[in-house]
Amino acid sequence: MLTLFPEMFPGPLGASLAGKALASGLWALEARDIRDSATDRHRSVDDTPAGGGPGMVLRADVLAAAIDAADTPDRPKDRPRLLMSPRGRPLTQARVVELAGGPGPLIVCGRFEGIDQRVIEARGLEEVSIGDYVLSGGEIAAMAVIDACVRLLPGVMGKLISGTEESFSEGLLEYPQYTRPQEFEGRAIPEILLSGDHAKVAAWRQAEAEALTRARRPDLWAARQTPSGPSQKRPKNTTEG
Ligand code: SAH
Repeated sequence: MLTLFPEMFPGPLGASLAGKALASGLWALEARDIRDSATDRHRSVDDTPAGGGPGMVLRADVLAAAIDAADTPDRPKDRPRLLMSPRGRPLTQARVVELAGGPGPLIVCGRFEGIDQRVIEARGLEEVSIGDYVLSGGEIAAMAVIDACVRLLPGVMGKLISGTEESFSEGLLEYPQYTRPQEFEGRAIPEILLSGDHAKVAAWRQAEAEALTRARRPDLWAARQTPSGPSQKRPKNTTEG
């Protein structure tokens, strides 16, 4: 983790399940201050944008030095180097699963108007976005990435199943959840969920998940209908000529 605000970490990642797992050593976080790699006497990390315009840009030389200092010999050479960036590829659960199964990424948090393009290229940074809106810095975005990864690590969540049956794992949003009381302000829990018939419950949940995905996320639904998607995996040539 490279940031101009290391004091922001672990922040919310120090609470709840991620926090317990952090305390017990199931994962680790090192927040390094980019400013430690500044070389001038003012310890400056940014400068005005070439070509003019508002704001400041993080200097390529300072950030490259910070990346090189973080890549100590004991670090895996092949670890992903992510740059939190609204221009990046939107984060997906599929990428989260990959990251959680990998060696643990180096994450660079931007600030100001962004960072010098040349360091992105020279250090092979993978730009990752957490959505189509602009934050003031990469730290909260990095926390989102880390939180999504950490909860998938073995031993972090109570039951492994809850990580595999939830939203996006099958390209669908999750079905509605209910718990006690059986009646809340005149609303009952759908009867089928109290039937004890596991096959019927599973079918109901699948139908609910499909209806919800269709209604709320036509983009996700359409992606399921592509040739490689599950809906096309029916036997071909079933009609006779
Ligand atoms: N001028 C830039 C925005 C800079 S915001 C632009 O228009 O693209 C400052 C920093 O916040 C970025 O360098 C990035 O690290 C972080 N950031 C802002 N929005 C983000 C998002 N949606 N996803 C990931 N990181 C983001």
